[in-house]
Amino acid sequence: MKIGIIGTGYVGLPTGVGLAELGNEVTCIDREASKIDALKAGKLTIYEDGLEELFHKNRLSGRLTFTTSMKEGIENADVVLIAVGTPPHPITKEADMKYIHAAATELAEFLQGYTVVATKSTVPVGTGDAVEGLIRKKNPQADFDVVSLPEFLREGFAVHDFFNPDRIIVGANSKRAADVIKKLYTPFEKKTRMLFVNRRSAETIKYASNAFLAMKIHYINEMADFCEKSGADIYEVAKGLGLDSRIGEKFLNPGPGYGGSCFPKDTNAMAYMGRQNNVNLSLIEATIKGNDLRQQQMGERILEAVKNIKSPKIAVLGLAFKNGTDDCRQSPAIKIVSTLLEKNVNIKAFDPKAMPNAKNLLGDKIQYAQDEYDALSGADVLAILTEWKQFGELDLTKVKNLMRTPTIIDLRNLLNPEEVRKLGFTYRGIGR
Ligand code: NAD
Repeated sequence: MKIGIIGTGYVGLPTGVGLAELGNEVTCIDREASKIDALKAGKLTIYEDGLEELFHKNRLSGRLTFTTSMKEGIENADVVLIAVGTPPHPITKEADMKYIHAAATELAEFLQGYTVVATKSTVPVGTGDAVEGLIRKKNPQADFDVVSLPEFLREGFAVHDFFNPDRIIVGANSKRAADVIKKLYTPFEKKTRMLFVNRRSAETIKYASNAFLAMKIHYINEMADFCEKSGADIYEVAKGLGLDSRIGEKFLNPGPGYGGSCFPKDTNAMAYMGRQNNVNLSLIEATIKGNDLRQQQMGERILEAVKNIKSPKIAVLGLAFKNGTDDCRQSPAIKIVSTLLEKNVNIKAFDPKAMPNAKNLLGDKIQYAQDEYDALSGADVLAILTEWKQFGELDLTKVKNLMRTPTIIDLRNLLNPEEVRKLGFTYRGIGR
């Protein structure tokens, strides 16, 4: 099939690469010329595990092309995917629809023949109606349907998740459109569940899913706090909890709180929709507040460890919001570093992939290290903020020799507490 994707970011690019790999002819469109120039020149604009090889393969085969021209990407497309950002409004925190509305208006005039316009972006309920209205207004003759096709990929696993989706949710109000999407996803027919629902249900499913996952994270974090006070071990508790199939064992990892470009934004957008509809979404409201507070408390936990040291040096390992990605949007690590910076501390940080994005957010307020050990030289505390595997494999004897004071605050529980303490470190993890 011929596919145009509007928005070539963390969702649009892996989706484009994946659809091309399945044999489709894909054009990725972005309004940022520098992004498109880089991609045309064979340079990936994001880091995602496993993306590079498939990107080159499909680009060189000619099945995957890049353009800034809406005309080039949309004309003759069977399916147009909208994958532009829906960032939080700075004041109300509702999803800001300006990019979606612009994309709908810009694509309208280039539709030719029957086209399915599918929204992959996470959008408030009723957006499908709005997109349909905008296209109809600009191009009354166009033959098209708008469907909601929410995206569930996880950053860091985007390629894996594209080829192994848990489920595909299709919100289509016409059989004609549903059939086109069914055809697009034929390669997944046997290995995944495809659920056809009405457009508003599909839009709601995405928010309901992300809000639930955010609540699950917040819940296990609160349980971790309780374990710290009660002498229980959060991993034993999580294991016992997860053995109940109604609860499930996934997403029961305690940490510094959720972050990233989705959970914070989507919980806030859902809470806003609840308020707009006079529905009391108290669990989601409490999760948002609790998660914000947690990140503040995690910063304070690190400061507590150096409270008796004048101008302490803090080594921060990890800036991305999780491992496997270079994305720092709403990263707990960035928020924690910001809390630390309110006090008189020196920070030297390292992240294997996210340094350029972190520099854009933190500028010269901190120092950036060449590697883990460079960050640790002369440090009074090591704060592990992102769960990169390599941080769990540090040479701890070398670490101890490099640090001024051997203290570790491990907010991802990457290290073995007993081993670390045996080596003479003061160690604090989460929930045990
Ligand atoms: P992103 O910011 O990485 O990418 C969006 C891209 O769209 C940018 O490159 C931007 O230049 C481009 N763009 C904006 N308006 C445009 C227009 N009119 N024409 C052409 N290009 C335009 O965003 P993302 O992380 O890929 O997220 C996209 C959407 O997918 C959001 O709604 C997000 O909530 C949702 N989503 C994201 C993830 C994730 O893990 N990042 C997962 C599921 C769903």
